[in-house]
Amino acid sequence: MSATLDLADPANRPAPVSARSAAGAGAGAEKPSLVGMSREELAEALGTIGIPEKQRRMRVGQLWHWLYVRGASDFSQMANISKELRTKLAEAFEIARPEIVTEQVSVDGTRKWVVRFPPRGAGRPVEVETVYIPEEGRGTLCVSSQVGCTLTCTFCHTGTQRLVRNLTAGEIVSQVLLARDRLGDFPDADTPAGAIVPNEGRLVSNVVMMGMGEPLYNFDNVATALGVMSDGDGLSVSKRRITLSTSGVVPEIVRAGEETGVMLAISLHAVNDELRDELVPINKKYPLEKLLEACRNYPGLSNARRITFEYVMLKGVNDSMEDARNLVRMLKGIPAKINLIPFNPWPGSRYECSDWDQIERFADYVNQAGYASPIRTPRGRDIFAACGQLKSESERMRKTDRERMESARILELSGNGEA
Ligand code: SF4
Repeated sequence: MSATLDLADPANRPAPVSARSAAGAGAGAEKPSLVGMSREELAEALGTIGIPEKQRRMRVGQLWHWLYVRGASDFSQMANISKELRTKLAEAFEIARPEIVTEQVSVDGTRKWVVRFPPRGAGRPVEVETVYIPEEGRGTLCVSSQVGCTLTCTFCHTGTQRLVRNLTAGEIVSQVLLARDRLGDFPDADTPAGAIVPNEGRLVSNVVMMGMGEPLYNFDNVATALGVMSDGDGLSVSKRRITLSTSGVVPEIVRAGEETGVMLAISLHAVNDELRDELVPINKKYPLEKLLEACRNYPGLSNARRITFEYVMLKGVNDSMEDARNLVRMLKGIPAKINLIPFNPWPGSRYECSDWDQIERFADYVNQAGYASPIRTPRGRDIFAACGQLKSESERMRKTDRERMESARILELSGNGEA
């Protein structure tokens, strides 16, 4: 059975920090968050509270260590910084974590957090979902970049939720901090009360920008956040272990490679424009030919640095052997991996997952053609944490009775080992 941690129970709550619920990463209307700032931005911020220029580099190093190595979420924890300066920092800035609305644990160990960020400006609080997927030898965190999405990919639940706003760099980075808190993954910090620590000591080793939103429509914040995550003196997630997934915002693809240096994934799902126009409507603006040209020009592309092409398996839609042949033909010459994703149903979705036999036939064909093409085992379906199933909790609550019945049906199917 999946489990939802009751955060109303004080025993399960993360350790309290000052102003936790009042502010949050990158958001407080009153105080800016230091979380998610680049080193240069951090130095500038320190300048605004009168830290002399010649001290700033050293102070940035101290803060960086506390924020990203020690996992501090309150200035009072920063023992090697004078009390006077800590008070000054706390008066001007925020470093608190965002609020965790729910924490769910799937039967397969996948964890999903609904994370609430406070209002910015005249806005209202917003929620996104962050998912942790433990696997053999690694732990992958799926991070959101927007609240909702402007794109309307027809197989994706997030696509049914309108865009509310972009997340700040701080809000993106804070999803990683929060996951590491809840997994007990800051070696020097105390594990917070109620944290669920994996038995096998899995850590957040990989990050995929595949949660809610199109990361390349929030380019600057995503690029800054990836810079913070990959900084070797902080969170230190290797750029080879960070993957940015795009539905195909062609003009930003090469720039993303140049400015972030992370791995690229393309949400492909179809091998001809007619079908991709329907499944991934941004294709009407940037058709396959242009998308593939941008992929060929992705900086650093080699057999050791391949692009991942995501391909959701939809019964009777894109799963024929002719599709498999066309897929192989289409990707010829591009160092590529193909990720086959059994469709994860959601309430109101119009598609069905391909039959398992057909998924295997399809996978065999592309494997034999030389593409490493693992079938991505569905993870976290029982808590709606699987690929394409994310949607903020408040949006989910607005669903109709018909959709509620549909949810129950889907969960029943998941429990019976569908696909
Ligand atoms: S697949 Fe990505 S880009 Fe498409 S609707 Fe879903 S979140 Fe948006």
